[in-house]
Amino acid sequence: GPMIRLTGVSKSYRGTVAVHDLDLDVARGELVCLVGPSGSGKSTTLKMINRLVEPTTGTIEVDGRDVTRVDPVQLRRGIGYVIQQVGLFPHQKVITNTMTVPLLYGESKATARARAEELLHLVGLDPAQYGDRYPHELSGGQRQRVGVARALAADPPVLLMDEPFGAVDPVIRGRLQDEFLRIQRELDKTVVLVTHDIDEAVRLGDRVAVFGEGGRLLQYDTPARLLGFP
Ligand code: ADP
Ligand code: ADP
Repeated sequence: GPMIRLTGVSKSYRGTVAVHDLDLDVARGELVCLVGPSGSGKSTTLKMINRLVEPTTGTIEVDGRDVTRVDPVQLRRGIGYVIQQVGLFPHQKVITNTMTVPLLYGESKATARARAEELLHLVGLDPAQYGDRYPHELSGGQRQRVGVARALAADPPVLLMDEPFGAVDPVIRGRLQDEFLRIQRELDKTVVLVTHDIDEAVRLGDRVAVFGEGGRLLQYDTPARLLGFP
């Protein structure tokens, strides 16, 4: 079955419908982009998958299990979450930020460090140059890249990403997107990525879910078919 399945999911906040009767499947190893205007329910959808938000109606399964029946700590251990305002630990160096979660899970220090360095390289930050900096000594785009490396360091099968490249300089965004695609394929991650940028959605997504007014899913298809190719 699919890695993620939402069935008849709705969410209202005091009368505001954020998400309306959503059915959505994400296959294992698939990268799905949620795209649509501001306020169309994309972020709410993402947060319901890791239970930061509870749906008003409907069911959500991750890896075949109803998320309300899984211990939230266990659930989030298997689901990385990357948001635009990355919550890096302000008093930890970049390298330590990237090592913290694997260390918590019992990884040896040497292994965690080697992995952190590899991932920082992967996201385009030379650990020799940036590893010993603190988050406030980085640009917004660099902080975001550390956030991606840190999420990958925990090695979760599922990654939820909310505008992960939003603060990245447009000149390097394309390169970072390509690198991320390569990593996602190589590590076989299932990814749900929110963006308001249709070009990004079409470039990255195996499938693209187009949201509209009132949190309605308007279309869910491959980029080629969305763009009208047979
Ligand atoms: P998007 O990610 O597409 O911009 P959101 O999921 O953030 O959309 O928001 C969908 C709708 O739900 C919007 O109308 C937004 O104002 C509303 N909303 C989101 N979060 C909250 C909240 N915590 N309390 C009240 N309304 C909210
Ligand atoms: P970006 O396009 O990635 O947002 P910026 O223009 O913000 O980049 O930053 C450019 C350079 O300045 C980067 O190499 C960054 O490391 C460095 N930098 C930004 N803020 C600081 C800081 N507070 N201390 C040290 N270096 C900084």
